Amino acid sequence: MGAQQVAERFTELYGARPEGVWAAPGRVNLIGEHTDYNDGFVMPFALPHQAVAAVSRRDDGLLRLHSADMEGGVVELRLDALAPGTDSAWTAYPAGVVWALREAGHAITGADVHLSSTVPTGAGLSSSAALEVVIALAFDDLYDLGLARWQLARLCQRAENVYVGAPTGIMDQTASACCAPGHALFLDTRDLSQQQIPFDLAAEGLRLLVVDTQVKHAHSGGEYGKRRAGCEKGAALLGVDALRDIAYADLDAALARLGDEEEIRRLVRHVVTEDERVERTVALLRAGDPRAIGPILTEGHASLRDDFRISCPELDLVVDTALAHGALGSRMTGGGFGGSALILAESSEVPSLTKALEAAFATADFMAPRVFEAVPSAGARRLV
Ligand code: ADP
Ligand code: MG
Repeated sequence: MGAQQVAERFTELYGARPEGVWAAPGRVNLIGEHTDYNDGFVMPFALPHQAVAAVSRRDDGLLRLHSADMEGGVVELRLDALAPGTDSAWTAYPAGVVWALREAGHAITGADVHLSSTVPTGAGLSSSAALEVVIALAFDDLYDLGLARWQLARLCQRAENVYVGAPTGIMDQTASACCAPGHALFLDTRDLSQQQIPFDLAAEGLRLLVVDTQVKHAHSGGEYGKRRAGCEKGAALLGVDALRDIAYADLDAALARLGDEEEIRRLVRHVVTEDERVERTVALLRAGDPRAIGPILTEGHASLRDDFRISCPELDLVVDTALAHGALGSRMTGGGFGGSALILAESSEVPSLTKALEAAFATADFMAPRVFEAVPSAGARRLV
């Protein structure tokens, strides 16, 4: 959705041009899955798909919200009535960000907002973070708050955790706020230190495909909570603040100490090996060897499938089909039980791979997946 189009619709809705237009992208996580609530490493990059918001300030304590992608007209909220748990509609995401800004002591007096997004919802590509971050950046600019990108990400996470009530880590919001084109973001979720790692696949004759299976298995919410609680229990049993504190070299000793806690042992093994996979990926990309990360992605999938147990038949079918048809590597990405998978492949292999996926899904009688190329794109920014 272009900035002009969003600005024009804003003008129709609210009777005046917006003060500005901002964009924030969805993201894909290259590697580092279910590590962010264990204080570990993640490596997302921004998608070209983004949320675009036109915003103007108001001084009468009203927040008016409109989305081109939702039924219904403009929703009008009073700033002093914003409270966690009061809104179960899409408006909770932008309203939650405004609530979090006010909670942090920023003098926000109101706004008119119109937004539109090309990030698919519920596909594990973080449409929610795109929405939060575009609002946070617009308010930071308009109200001259001077917040750093990582601070915006923290506020957005608070909005999602507390106001919306969804227990997510810090990765999605940081990716949307901080990513750079042609790079993946190596993020330490403990201290939020970050490094931009060159990730320009097209220049190497490579492609990264995202395969959105369009399935979301119903039990995903509760299973996320169980994994999270299991990781916390593992850390407690091992006497560390978070599983990030178990060094890869000490993994076997740690597993031995967990004795017959088989479920916890598997969770711990995934998290500790996954952190190590992120570090290996960073080293290979820094050394200019992107093809070599393929097997690491595939190892990551096996760990999520067998140890963390959050894959599903559709995701496994993507990975198995891709590997059988010449992919360099493949893995599920995101929370699991549906959503999307990644495939790293030579550019020349993409047409035959795509055909093989379509055929495999048809044979299995699964819904046809949506396949698109993921080009590492820009993080949040002002457009107009
Ligand atoms: P994900 O972030 O993986 O896409 P979530 O369930 O976290 O999935 O967030 C999706 C929710 O975000 C939607 O149900 C909706 O409430 C909100 N959302 C996303 N995109 C838009 C949009 N363009 N307009 C309004 N709300 C949106
Ligand atoms: Mg989300």
